[in-house]
Amino acid sequence: MRTAVFSTKSYDRRFLKEANDHRHDLTFFEWPLNTHTVKLLHDFEAVCVFVNDRADRVILEQLAKNGIRLLALRCAGFNNVDIPAAAELGITVARVPAYSPHGVAEHAVALMLALNRKIYRAHNRIRDGNFSLEGLMGFEMHGKCAGIIGTGKIGELTAGILKGFSMRLFGYDTRPNPACEAMGMTYLSLDELYATCDIISLHVPLLPATHHLIDDEAVGRMKDGVMIINTSRGGLIKTQSVIDGLKSGRIGYLGLDVYEEEADLFFEDLSDSVIQDDVFARLLTFPNVIITGHQAFFTDVALNNIAETTIANLTGFAAGHVDPANLVKPRA
Ligand code: NAD
Repeated sequence: MRTAVFSTKSYDRRFLKEANDHRHDLTFFEWPLNTHTVKLLHDFEAVCVFVNDRADRVILEQLAKNGIRLLALRCAGFNNVDIPAAAELGITVARVPAYSPHGVAEHAVALMLALNRKIYRAHNRIRDGNFSLEGLMGFEMHGKCAGIIGTGKIGELTAGILKGFSMRLFGYDTRPNPACEAMGMTYLSLDELYATCDIISLHVPLLPATHHLIDDEAVGRMKDGVMIINTSRGGLIKTQSVIDGLKSGRIGYLGLDVYEEEADLFFEDLSDSVIQDDVFARLLTFPNVIITGHQAFFTDVALNNIAETTIANLTGFAAGHVDPANLVKPRA
């Protein structure tokens, strides 16, 4: 299929070319899909995008007008796509439902450990010849309470790793996961989880129901000194609420791999620019905040799985049958 592939970096091109093996005619663009770049699309049958490309109704209308019939997402989350509009316009949306659940879970725990034991501060001190331990004291995770919000694939794996640390497991999900219950997880209401847990890790998708799940009220119900980890989607957290929580000390640690306004920042080298986002800049000033730039998925296994499934989605669509597990349809 003649496919325009947006937001590509060298690693995307390498893995996609290998998986494609010349079956589809792939044209790679470094820039994202947006209201400007959509105008450049001519003579393509499919468009392939990533987490921060925009596919709202206006863009989907342009795609449909230009004969695009397939939107192939190189990711699991589809909060950036207007799914009902795509269905109305006859555009099939396919995604990669799971490509690195282990990688994301491992990254969530890496953030917890780095924050708890202040690895980033210790590393900088040692490089500077400062061997003082003042301010580096951590806590033992053994016996502490971990709250997993969203106990699907990634939440379950995160819980499994934390069980290995002998943490007590608590969960919140609209559909409890029997595998988590078998691990000893106790499901609680959100308020109970906030009041109980020392570490809270977010693994729900971004939906209208979960947008700004962590707001002033939620932070107000948490334990003093709580650690919050978000490797899911930035919009789950109202950033000003966690800034206020950090300033008051209610939040003791914050680990983010995602940020609600990340589309203007992440995946680019902006080291020569002045950051215009004052809220993000404030987050960078806290000694107890670690931010990574949406890299939880970024492993060799994940890139290979993303490329293989994306090419399979193109091939399936061309043959008239995309794997139903990969299709995204409007909720009934
Ligand atoms: P999943 O579908 O397996 O699990 C999501 C869980 O959330 C399900 O158990 C579901 O029942 C639950 N859920 C849905 N809506 C809910 C609600 N309103 N309240 C409570 N629970 C609700 O998804 P997954 O594979 O575990 O991925 C989770 C999220 O991780 C994705 O949606 C994506 O946004 C994010 N993700 C991030 C990266 C990264 O690199 N940072 C990579 C992959 C996925």
